[in-house]
Amino acid sequence: MQSVIPDYLAEALGDVESDTSGEPADYIPELATADPELLGAVFATVDGEVYGAGDIDTEFTIQSISKPFVYALALTDRGFDPVLAKVGVEPSGEAFNRISLESDTGRPFNPMINAGAITTHSLAGPAGMDPQERVERVVRGLSAFAGRGLRVDERVCVSEMEHAHRNLAIAYMLRGYDILIEDPRVVVEGYTRQCSVLVTARDLAMMAATLAHRGVNPLSGERVVSEPVVRQVLSVMSTCGMYDAAGDWATQVGIPAKSGVAGGLIGALPGQIGIATFSPRLDPHGNSVRGVSLFERFSSDMGLHVMEVPAAARATLRSNHVVGSGPDAVRVLQLQGGIGFAGAERVVREAVTTAPTETRVALDLTMVYVVDDVARRMLLEVVRRLTLDGHQVYLVDPDAIMPDPDPGDGGRVTVVSEVGQGVVPPREAAPRRGRPEEGGGVPGS
Ligand code: GLN
Repeated sequence: MQSVIPDYLAEALGDVESDTSGEPADYIPELATADPELLGAVFATVDGEVYGAGDIDTEFTIQSISKPFVYALALTDRGFDPVLAKVGVEPSGEAFNRISLESDTGRPFNPMINAGAITTHSLAGPAGMDPQERVERVVRGLSAFAGRGLRVDERVCVSEMEHAHRNLAIAYMLRGYDILIEDPRVVVEGYTRQCSVLVTARDLAMMAATLAHRGVNPLSGERVVSEPVVRQVLSVMSTCGMYDAAGDWATQVGIPAKSGVAGGLIGALPGQIGIATFSPRLDPHGNSVRGVSLFERFSSDMGLHVMEVPAAARATLRSNHVVGSGPDAVRVLQLQGGIGFAGAERVVREAVTTAPTETRVALDLTMVYVVDDVARRMLLEVVRRLTLDGHQVYLVDPDAIMPDPDPGDGGRVTVVSEVGQGVVPPREAAPRRGRPEEGGGVPGS
């Protein structure tokens, strides 16, 4: 069988193909020469699967899509406080190249507009790094996000530099406020090289997937940046990534995103996928027209909005039933899925409201694939309190989803690999499946 996803992507491209509105960017003359018909879309999953349709291996310059990644590098190289002291995290609601800074501090509002991005470029690498080495650090960092070696398009770089009057004006203002502490022209040259790095839609999807995958590149397995850095970057992308269209985007698409004036657009959906589209015609905000339509469609077709409420919490408790009878009876709370705070709360509540009368209580994790840190602590506290209430507590955990369970002070737990093992005789072991929230009853009796 062939995967259905490339067919879906091809169909989505077909639907937006006839939209020829907008124009390729022309304030950078070299970008105006792009073939406006180019069109591609890629999904990259956090485990490294890539699905694409259309022009996904055509190179174009990354432009502003470099901004979140270089922000990540600056946070990594300098730490949060020094970066936040120079660049804010407030949406400006203004165009990307607006010459505006916070009136009191002179700080750029955020790292996604040019003023902020020029500043974050200057903060990549250790303090005092030679500007040329800093550019190399940036290109190497972007390459690590993509999982392959990237290079600069010299023609686009020269073309932009010849017309970089606005970015120079911004940089000189930043110098005036001591936000930049070096020659503004040198910083703008470095920033322009950063924007001229060549990528394909495939690369961009992988870069976005690295953010979606907590900072680890799904293909190379390399940890590029830490989880706190990823969280910071995704937050800023979701509030500021689409400039003065950020509010529309947040409500209609709801995926942390970043656009570039060469026609690229990325979205990173935490824990799920990285998405990239490429189409050079831009709307008045400087965002790709067909890219925005594609993202709107992806989001609504597949429920990708980050504010979409997950079903997981409600479904965590698969069943609550008793296995065996008399003194052998075991109360089994069977859990399923991925368990975070809300799922663990459901288990806590069940343990409190059911107040098991059986001496033996088992938490069955056989159908659980992950327990996050807070859920782990909450479940172990449930175990501890059940022990203190006089119960014998078992953790049915054949795949060691919760390794080394230590319920702490006064708690005790026995780990078994099935309900039958050491808990009840095997013939009574199999809990009935498929009926959620099933109460009472002794299977097989
Ligand atoms: N290099 C471009 C600039 O500074 C990037 C802008 C963008 O992609 N929005 O103008």
